[in-house]
Amino acid sequence: MTSSISSQARFPRHFSFEFAAPKTDEALAKLEKTRARLQAVNPHFFSVTYGAGGSTRDGTRQAVLGIQAAGSAVAPHLSFGGDPSDKIADLLQDYAQAGINRVVALRGDIPSGTSGSGKLAYASELVTFIREQTGDHFHIEVAAYPEVHPDSASVESDVTYFKAKVDAGANSAITQYFYNAGAYFRYVEACAAVGVQIPIVPGIMPITNFASLVRFSDTCGADIPRWIRKHLEAYQNDPVSLKAFGEDVVTDLCQQLLDGGAPGLHFYTMNQSVPTLNLWRNLGL
Ligand code: FAD
Repeated sequence: MTSSISSQARFPRHFSFEFAAPKTDEALAKLEKTRARLQAVNPHFFSVTYGAGGSTRDGTRQAVLGIQAAGSAVAPHLSFGGDPSDKIADLLQDYAQAGINRVVALRGDIPSGTSGSGKLAYASELVTFIREQTGDHFHIEVAAYPEVHPDSASVESDVTYFKAKVDAGANSAITQYFYNAGAYFRYVEACAAVGVQIPIVPGIMPITNFASLVRFSDTCGADIPRWIRKHLEAYQNDPVSLKAFGEDVVTDLCQQLLDGGAPGLHFYTMNQSVPTLNLWRNLGL
């Protein structure tokens, strides 16, 4: 599948960088420095995550407005979480008034340790809500899962519910990270086969730490191929070799994706500039 050019190749390429919402003033200051370094390569936009259940609502808002004020395009992530609808409507108005015109609409996950009494609305409901509240003001991004979302009953239902987000008004999608290029190419063709016609940009997770990558991948359902896992295990006490290996593997992945027609890349920066800028340089972007 990777040898042919995917149907995604018809879309212009967009490159974007994601930050985790800061939870302290110190983290916010660090994020601003990282943004300034990453801005040097002129990404299409930055995005800032939204803590499950609205836990980072203020941190996300503060970071997003700061990035916008610094002159960089930014897309806040958003989910209903435990919030009443009018709170989300207010947030959308704030963002629109600040000149922000792109959001990433998500269901989010119930944070462990909470009562779970909040509303966990599917992302398609949020997309519908955003369109009802703000018409066509926002370009709406949604999440996509080439290796199948952990809650999905089947590959088919995963694609069906992804299409529901597009039918509700999503303009483009960013994928969960993966290390199997073939999963992405098969996924985008499965989406095309059911009539999905939006850009689906691969999410790229740099590899810098074995333990945290394994922990996170187990939670979000991203597969770390055995051969990668074995190499990383071997480098557990050798961070320099681990990072060099990780950079090599992820550079190859990105190159395969771009060669196969992926419409850009979305980097999960982990609020660090160096891993993403190294990949950027290796790819000659
Ligand atoms: P949905 O699209 O609603 O799908 C969730 C699951 O429900 C899927 O299995 C889907 O197939 C199924 N489903 C959907 N609709 C229906 C239906 N009507 N009936 C039955 N099943 C249905 N999480 C955060 O908390 N904050 C973030 O900022 C954040 N940013 C992210 C950014 C990206 C690019 C990605 C890929 C993920 C991000 N996540 C974030 C994680 C995301 O919130 C989780 O993966 C979450 O479990 C699903 O969110 P979703 O928007 O994909 O959900």
